[in-house]
Amino acid sequence: MALPSDTSEAALKAKALGVNRRLEAAYGHKPWRPRRDALRELISTILSHRTKSATEWAAMDRLWQKYGSWEGIRDAPVEGIVEAIYSVTWAERKGLSIKRVLQIISERRTGELNIDFLADLPVEEGLEWLTSLPGVGIKTASLVLLFNFHKTILPVDTHLHRVSMRLGLIGPKVTPEQAHEILAHLLPPDPDIYWNYHVNMLQHGREICIWSRPRCEKCVLTGICDYYHDVRLKGKG
Ligand code: SF4
Repeated sequence: MALPSDTSEAALKAKALGVNRRLEAAYGHKPWRPRRDALRELISTILSHRTKSATEWAAMDRLWQKYGSWEGIRDAPVEGIVEAIYSVTWAERKGLSIKRVLQIISERRTGELNIDFLADLPVEEGLEWLTSLPGVGIKTASLVLLFNFHKTILPVDTHLHRVSMRLGLIGPKVTPEQAHEILAHLLPPDPDIYWNYHVNMLQHGREICIWSRPRCEKCVLTGICDYYHDVRLKGKG
């Protein structure tokens, strides 16, 4: 295994594989399966931005109880949608995006509110189609493509971005948007690997490598982590 400070491509690839292996040993190798239908994943992911999971789920439940169908939400007044999702961050912006997304999908799919056709598109075309929707960035689009359609693409959320930066897999100035391609390139292009890497890094970021103070004493990655070597062992920062 390369030294934490080694930033050659070969060393970073070896480190990414080492991270994946250690996280799978700690959290398991999970078989891929969609957790909900694709349109629900898309709308829920829009709701989830900068919002806790429980708050997002409650907002989605209220929205569904109020309007009862995607058509009902599409045709609802924006104020009514915003009222139903009031507890999420940026409710007004997200309410408008959700209505516009459903309207645009209806228009493009001649009335059909379903995005399952993305399963048949190459990953780049699917990414382009989704990111052309209002409020849908690369994180949301790549998550739908991997989680629902098993496409070879790696979603990078705030947890993956932070943990990857501490590990030294990406540099301190790399944005989450830039990190998608960089991190995907470090791992073998396999949706099962991307899926497990994403869900295990997410769990690790939520439980161990938390934002405020990483729990390094409980971490399985100390041997290959730049933050641990630079800040903890050398007493910097
Ligand atoms: S050693 Fe500490 S900083 Fe590094 S990944 Fe683990 S918890 Fe995060």
